Amino acid sequence: MLQTLPPWSVRTGARCIGFEQSTAILEDGERVEADVLVGADGIASAIRQALHGKAAPVYAGYTCWRGICRDDGSLPDGSAILAVGHGMQCGIWHCGEGQIYWFVTKNAPEGTAGGKAEVLALCRNWAPPIPGVVESTPSDSIIQNDILDRPPLRKWGLGRATLLGDAAHAATPNLGQGACQALEDAVVLAHCLRAEQPVDAALRAYERLRIPRTAAIVNNSRRTGRILQLDQPALEWLRNSVSASPLGRRMERRLFRQLLFYPLPKL
Ligand SMILES: Cc1cc2nc3c(=O)[nH]c(=O)nc-3n(C[C@H](O)[C@H](O)[C@H](O)COP(=O)(O)OP(=O)(O)OC[C@H]3O[C@@H](n4cnc5c(N)ncnc54)[C@H](O)[C@@H]3O)c2cc1C
Repeated sequence: MLQTLPPWSVRTGARCIGFEQSTAILEDGERVEADVLVGADGIASAIRQALHGKAAPVYAGYTCWRGICRDDGSLPDGSAILAVGHGMQCGIWHCGEGQIYWFVTKNAPEGTAGGKAEVLALCRNWAPPIPGVVESTPSDSIIQNDILDRPPLRKWGLGRATLLGDAAHAATPNLGQGACQALEDAVVLAHCLRAEQPVDAALRAYERLRIPRTAAIVNNSRRTGRILQLDQPALEWLRNSVSASPLGRRMERRLFRQLLFYPLPKL
């Protein structure tokens, strides 16, 4: 992507602290003027804060470890695993180039820290290949994040400024949609900027198209996370029974249809 852009168009090491109309204000006082300002600066977005005020992201009640290890053949090609336990989940799938990606979640107080030893202790008695993939991951490449999201906004931008990606709609990762939705935003934004004039009308059209879908995904991800992280045996039994039933399968297919079949404009 970088190679397809003109060299002046990407600058690193430049922290944005706010904006005026469509001018970005950097930490060192520099002002970067543009026709459009898109705050794509993640869950702790400075542009979102300038537009909507300071509010901390919401902790979902569980923490997550992630890692990538070499594919030793223990996960058959074309398959993936999502295992759900007592206040825990584990997911494993191929991520290309002879590697396997995994994650493990656990209900815990916010800020709980731990490394490979803690993850292994959590999943040591789980079925293969779960303990094996964690064991074969180098300790220093395992990362841990508390799982956070933000309640959906009714409005994103103002004038010639708007938001995109986690800055606009940070979700818990239970539907695997955070980065996917940021990409969809980018396609719809590009389409609206081409199709509509003036610029502020194009941004409002983009927001009208994207707010309902992304808000539904934020809410659905949070709900799905609550169900997957249940730690009360009776409710876990109910969840497991429903998800294995024909009704559960129908609900799952409906959810995936909603996520995966979205008419994107052609650019
Ligand atoms: C455990 C976990 C698992 C996930 N799994 C998935 C998954 O399976 N599928 C999926 O689609 N998504 C997943 N996600 C979500 C995904 O990582 C995010 O939704 C995605 O990275 C959001 O992209 P973004 O570009 O909006 O924000 P970010 O990736 O956060 O990028 C923001 C960028 O802005 C920069 N920045 C921040 N503040 C400033 C500032 N003030 N000035 C200048 N630059 C700034 C940052 O350095 C960064 O480069 C997961 C997230 C987590 C935590």
